[in-house]
Amino acid sequence: MLTGLQVAVLGGDARQLEIIRKLTELDAKIYLAGFDQLEQSFTGAVKENMEDIPFEQIDAIVLPVAGLQATGEVETIFSKSHLRLSKDIFDRTPKHCVIFTGISPPLLTNMAEKAGRKLVRLFDRDDVAIYNSIPTAEGTVLMAIQHTDFTIHGSTVAVIGMGRVGMSVARTFNNLGANVLLGARRSEHLARAIEMGLTPFKMNELSAVAEKADIIINTVPSLVVTASAIAKMRPHTLIIDLASKPGGTDFRYAEKRGIKAILALGLPGLVAPKTAGQILANVLAELLKNDATK
Ligand code: NAP
Repeated sequence: MLTGLQVAVLGGDARQLEIIRKLTELDAKIYLAGFDQLEQSFTGAVKENMEDIPFEQIDAIVLPVAGLQATGEVETIFSKSHLRLSKDIFDRTPKHCVIFTGISPPLLTNMAEKAGRKLVRLFDRDDVAIYNSIPTAEGTVLMAIQHTDFTIHGSTVAVIGMGRVGMSVARTFNNLGANVLLGARRSEHLARAIEMGLTPFKMNELSAVAEKADIIINTVPSLVVTASAIAKMRPHTLIIDLASKPGGTDFRYAEKRGIKAILALGLPGLVAPKTAGQILANVLAELLKNDATK
């Protein structure tokens, strides 16, 4: 239980509702800012203006998954008012206060560092990334269905990258009956691909693979789907790039060649916001419980 713990949840989207639900169930006291248009209420959670939150007593601050915008504003879909975060707010919290975010843009990292507060990036965690790879893979299937006129079953799908997302995506498309080719640079990843019943290829073989693929799914956050690979693709080939901005595809060249290329970001929040929120809520609750027992 989190009895006695005081948490400020500042802004966010539907995923925050799962966090609020979980933390209130565990008996934490929650202050919400940026939720004035939310009709739902939670026992143990009070809606406040940012300036009315008693930050001096707050043990943890939960920010939206994107952390903080470059303007210093905290994004919220549940309010029309602007939530501004400043170092002064962190300074007001007790020294043990932990700040939770999904990712941390430089402004947030600097602010937390200067205030000397611990910043936890939930998306850096292996467990969160692996859990998130499940809705990501499902979202990728949705994209493939929406943007092609052929079945996944029987089609040739090249997945690039054997990280947490690549592995789940490759397995999902393989289970749907696609002929999955897996591109990676490390020999152990190529070995794992064989163990999973996939056909491995080395990164420098991508151009040859591109010639026969119906769908290319990239998970590598570097430019790997280059103009020379795109030049080999057949007109119906679909590129789904999952890697964080700006993706790993030469989108300009793909457009020039008339190859459909989609940068499909934030799929967990898009296709399964409840699950995506529960993933964060469960990990957050565990971390808070561990902190509380220290
Ligand atoms: P990860 O576990 O770190 O995997 C990334 C993979 O890329 C690793 O296998 C890495 O191989 C490989 N790689 C990196 N640079 C490479 C290069 N230059 N050439 C070849 N391979 C390279 O990351 P992840 O959790 O799978 O996430 C992958 C990307 O998807 C990230 O950008 C993440 O932000 C994004 N993502 C997107 C969504 C969405 O909804 N679109 C959801 C979740 C995550 P090595 O091991 O050899 O370095």
